[in-house]
Amino acid sequence: MNYNYDGDNMNKIKYFTYLNLITENKKIHDLKTYALENHVPIIQKESLDLIITIIKVSQSKKILEIGSAIGYSAINFALLNEKITVTTIERDEQMVKEAKQNIKSFNLEKQIHLISSDALLIDEHELGHEFDLIFIDAAKSQYQKFFEKYTKCLRKGGMVITDNILFHDLIFETDIKNRNTRQLVKKIKNYNEWLKNNHLFDTRFFNIGDGVSISIKK
Ligand code: SAH
Ligand code: MG
Repeated sequence: MNYNYDGDNMNKIKYFTYLNLITENKKIHDLKTYALENHVPIIQKESLDLIITIIKVSQSKKILEIGSAIGYSAINFALLNEKITVTTIERDEQMVKEAKQNIKSFNLEKQIHLISSDALLIDEHELGHEFDLIFIDAAKSQYQKFFEKYTKCLRKGGMVITDNILFHDLIFETDIKNRNTRQLVKKIKNYNEWLKNNHLFDTRFFNIGDGVSISIKK
């Protein structure tokens, strides 16, 4: 990606990448590079920019994340304000190990509470929080289950942000050969429809990154 302004060769994506370019903290940059090189599916920059802005504007302090991977998004959230706490759930042991190390190296053990478990196996009442914001970024087939389970711990006026609602644009593919992928795509489409029709929340869908939805609890 060319980060310099290039008037002859600009398109919308390049232009916004250029406008949003900031000098990143070196450690964050290294963590991102590690994730990209090792195919860890971390949040895209533009989606992260949106969520960070929302956290700041809404002054969200208690965040719950489903799907930590190596802790990249959780670390980015926690670095915004020392009053922010992130409870983040990850089921893959290797990911948990790496996330733990990364959280430690950023000195964020006090702010980030990493839970090593399948998010569907936890007693959500034990999290003991009235969360301001829930970020759903784990197994795409289970989005609705995560939503239904964890919004019990979301305060009124709080929000759920869901990542990857376009699933790499496979949502628009009409001829998917792989049966599992086809079922996954169907699940995500159903989730989006279900969100659209869920009148307990006010949901908006954004064409940013891999697609992001924001659902505010009425
Ligand atoms: N939020 C991270 C990326 C998460 S990638 C970031 O942006 O930095 C998705 C992660 O969800 C994977 O590590 C996967 O192991 C985890 N995951 C998938 N299903 C899960 C489940 N049911 N419970 C907990 N973690 C899950
Ligand atoms: Mg994601």
